[in-house]
Amino acid sequence: MINYLYQEKNWQSQLNDLISDPDELLALLNLSASELKSQQLLSQHAHQQFKLRVPRQFVTKMQTGNAYDPLFLQVFPHHLEMQDMDKQIKAGFSADPLGELEANTLPGMLHKYQSRILMTITGACAIHCRYCFRRHFPYQENLPKSKDWQAIAQYILDHPKINEIILSGGDPLSVSNEKLALWINRFEELPQIKTIRLHTRLPVVIPQRIDEDLIKILSTTRCKIIMVVHSNHGNELDANFDVAMRKLSEINVILFNQSVLLKGINDNFQTLTQLSYRLFDARVLPYYLHVLDKVQGASHFLITDAEAQTIYQALLKELSGYLVPKLVRESSGELHKTPLNIF
Ligand SMILES: *Cc1c(COP(=O)(O)O)cnc(C)c1O
Ligand code: SF4
Repeated sequence: MINYLYQEKNWQSQLNDLISDPDELLALLNLSASELKSQQLLSQHAHQQFKLRVPRQFVTKMQTGNAYDPLFLQVFPHHLEMQDMDKQIKAGFSADPLGELEANTLPGMLHKYQSRILMTITGACAIHCRYCFRRHFPYQENLPKSKDWQAIAQYILDHPKINEIILSGGDPLSVSNEKLALWINRFEELPQIKTIRLHTRLPVVIPQRIDEDLIKILSTTRCKIIMVVHSNHGNELDANFDVAMRKLSEINVILFNQSVLLKGINDNFQTLTQLSYRLFDARVLPYYLHVLDKVQGASHFLITDAEAQTIYQALLKELSGYLVPKLVRESSGELHKTPLNIF
């Protein structure tokens, strides 16, 4: 019934009606039964630093009454985030763990890896994931504007090895279709660009984002289109997601998923096995399994490398090769994502 209702509602109105009040979320999940309990769970400080933001449709997939629900824990400003800040800093948790502030060459453009550049075309996301390294990133100063296009195009021409553009953010699908089409048209005019890739969580949290106009845009470009969605747990995926992925796969968009390995959410091989199978049901292949970026406020999600290795070895035994994501770490200064030593 609920799914049916959301199918009627377009993605823009869902984006305009996100939950941003922690008390409302707790009430919807029957978690605010006692004042004390919600006080303990919530950190206002964490919420001020990185506001709660979650689509209602995503909340319907959470289990009511369960403060350990794997979807709830990904979005709720939890008191653990601000705990032991001195210890977090000593353990290497920082505001800019990837050194992205330095890597920025032109507004909104990151060129860290030879053949591809990453464009942050918006700072906005439909959901705020508590483990995200962007929780401290000063987006607004750094978005590419139309007047920056000439310089970006020149930069690409000056670097002939660049053959792929990654549209990122924020979430690149939180912008209008018109704006997205504008960027895609610009990039496809450069003959050296073969592939345009979208890194997005929107099809998971508001699958209706894959609408008719978007399908038209993605099916008419000369570039190969890759979409890398972001899902960490099988509970995030439903029939609406399947429909969205089917539409994309019918126009030959190549579909991948990336996940983050998160303590208390997906740090066991059973959950990750289910996720891989569930993604494959929707025609999506697992791409990356990231270990956590050491971002301040996310230390309670950390698992050790040894634990990650154990889980990964079990995954290798359990799944067909194509259903096993690559276990990687992103380190500032490296020329690629770094595979973890798994044995
Ligand atoms: C992750 C990332 C990419 C993409 O890396 P792939 O290994 O090709 O998926 C590109 N640029 C930056 C800055 C990145 O962080
Ligand atoms: S960039 Fe991705 S991981 Fe970070 S908050 Fe936005 S949707 Fe979540």
